[in-house]
Amino acid sequence: MAQPQMPAMTNWRFEVDFERIAWLTIDTPNAPVNTLSRLAMTELETVLLRVEDLIASGEVVGLVIQSAKESGFIAGADVSEFDQMSDPSVLPEVLKRAHQVMDRIEAMKAPVIAAIHGFALGGGLELALACHYRIAVNDEKTRVGFPEVNLGIFPGFGGTGRSIRQAGPVEAMQAMLTGRMIKASAARRMGLVDKLVRHRDSLHWEARKAVLGKKKSTPAPLIERILAWGPIRGQIANKMRAEAGKKARKEHYPAPYALIDLFEKHGDDWRAMVDGEAAGFVPLMATETARNLRRVFFLSESLKKQGLRGKEKPSFARVHVIGAGVMGGDIAAWCALRGLGVTLQDLDMARIQPALDRAKSLFKKRLKDRTAVASAMARLEADPTGKGLARADVIIEAVVEKLEIKQKIFAEAEAKAKVDAILATNTSSIELERIASALKDPSRLIGLHFFNPVPSLPLVEVIRSTYNVDADVAKGASFALAIGKSPVLVKSAPGFLVNRVLMPYMLGAVERVERGESKELLDAAAVAFGMPMGPIELMDTVGLDVGASVAHELGHAVPESSTFARLIAEKKLGRKSGEGFYKWVDGKVQKGELPAHGNLAALGRELVQPMVDMTETVVAEGVVANADLADIGVIFGTGFAPFLGGPMNARKEGKA
Ligand code: NAD
Repeated sequence: MAQPQMPAMTNWRFEVDFERIAWLTIDTPNAPVNTLSRLAMTELETVLLRVEDLIASGEVVGLVIQSAKESGFIAGADVSEFDQMSDPSVLPEVLKRAHQVMDRIEAMKAPVIAAIHGFALGGGLELALACHYRIAVNDEKTRVGFPEVNLGIFPGFGGTGRSIRQAGPVEAMQAMLTGRMIKASAARRMGLVDKLVRHRDSLHWEARKAVLGKKKSTPAPLIERILAWGPIRGQIANKMRAEAGKKARKEHYPAPYALIDLFEKHGDDWRAMVDGEAAGFVPLMATETARNLRRVFFLSESLKKQGLRGKEKPSFARVHVIGAGVMGGDIAAWCALRGLGVTLQDLDMARIQPALDRAKSLFKKRLKDRTAVASAMARLEADPTGKGLARADVIIEAVVEKLEIKQKIFAEAEAKAKVDAILATNTSSIELERIASALKDPSRLIGLHFFNPVPSLPLVEVIRSTYNVDADVAKGASFALAIGKSPVLVKSAPGFLVNRVLMPYMLGAVERVERGESKELLDAAAVAFGMPMGPIELMDTVGLDVGASVAHELGHAVPESSTFARLIAEKKLGRKSGEGFYKWVDGKVQKGELPAHGNLAALGRELVQPMVDMTETVVAEGVVANADLADIGVIFGTGFAPFLGGPMNARKEGKA
């Protein structure tokens, strides 16, 4: 049939079918995901004006907004435009036009349906919320959410008010304050989505039915909305502030607090909330926090671009892990969780069983669905005799930290392994070259240094020995990415990156405690600076024995007369033994009173100084390729204040 005239567009395709349903399909050019760039928004504005006419003339009876990309619906606004957009002379106009676009969709005189598969995040979800009805595929790939807080802002395309209208104040505010990714089924329960379909193939049919049936979403029930009325709203806002305060300080991360202020003012009136949005949003966008969080976002995206590409891109189906202890057990479980077939070897079955039990709890927590847990367990196979070695694409060694044992293991592994299998050690402190010397071809060995606890720490240091060429470590990075971790390439040097920079920070604090300073005060000061945990609590969490051994490897002395050495001798090893510098009850630290101090943040800065100095040294020595990589590695590996954009950035900006 003849298609209505539309100006040329780069982001959208527009078609009207024989039933007079208009299909508007977003397909951001040259990008794996769709984003709402300024151009995409301008084009959308033009389409909507035209659709209004087509509806008025009866040529169109409804509009479906969908995506052509495999990756999903829309990942959000285009973050690469944020720096330019954050100019206060530009931003209000951008927001005003975006709001007009959303209002235009909502005011359309025929049904507008959002057909969602994969990610619908930030601006993408806001666009969907302006539609009259939302259908989503109920599968593992579909996720909706508001990740804006992670970029130091809150939703700015009308999503604050519209999410409250659909999901009620408590659920919507929680989603915006945490930035969490919400599965389709949960989004349906919350009211952010109206209808679920099982497969992407059914989306088209269901969207068509929704247009013809003039479907319209219903707002959250009164019982939920009541919570935003009158004085209750103030109380809820205060509770939210207290919750936010546990996670982040206002001076470090102002966005959640600004969102709560907006809610306190207008939370009972979604339209007023939308209208008040820009006043809170504009100043946030230009804060140093937002700028630095954008830096962290781009650096972490750049890590995803590492690894081998195109024809060289390896695929990984089977992993063999040797050593089923703390690290090996968790690495094996993680790989199985991510869909790989895993064989796990240790000296005997009794040493493997605890790792399998731990894996089961992890699968239950992460997968929920019983069949999925059973499949993950089936992918993880105990292998005391090492028969999996010969089939594996990746062999990871995580046995005790003893050179001779590791050498023996790799000599055997090399003989049995496939010629193109990755051979990797998880050693924390042994020079890679010394282990590799036991191999016929020492260039086959790389390091894959995971962090404890493996399921929650995203970083993997991919270690390069002097024997390796670029392709060896690139393949290691490809593997880390394939299991959903963030690889940072590091040269084989004592402590690599993360342990090397952490040690002077932790030991510096331990020395101050030895001199009689309050551990509670030091820990609180580091947190006030922006660390996720203080150095003494961190030492207790890592384990005093592990800390002392890393200290030793890095040439730091632990005097026998010290409290540190005494605690280790008394087997007070920290959290795992129930006592270290602190007492621990049920995995929770027991802290004493916090002494008064005039300037906690300044003290924190003093404590963090050695870590920042060491990062500079590590970069100067070429252990990591550049300051950007060091920053993202230290942020991911130690939790170093993301709002400062990493230690090197903080130093450059005079903040550390
Ligand atoms: P662990 O003591 O918990 O586990 C080591 C396991 O290796 C034990 O189960 C042991 O039975 C097994 N093992 C010993 N010899 C073996 C052999 N010949 N064949 C098969 N299995 C054998 O130790 P861990 O803490 O898991 O550390 C393992 C490795 O990971 C070490 O190289 C360590 O430096 C490194 N690492 C540890 C951490 C950490 O925080 N614990 C972090 C990063 C890296």
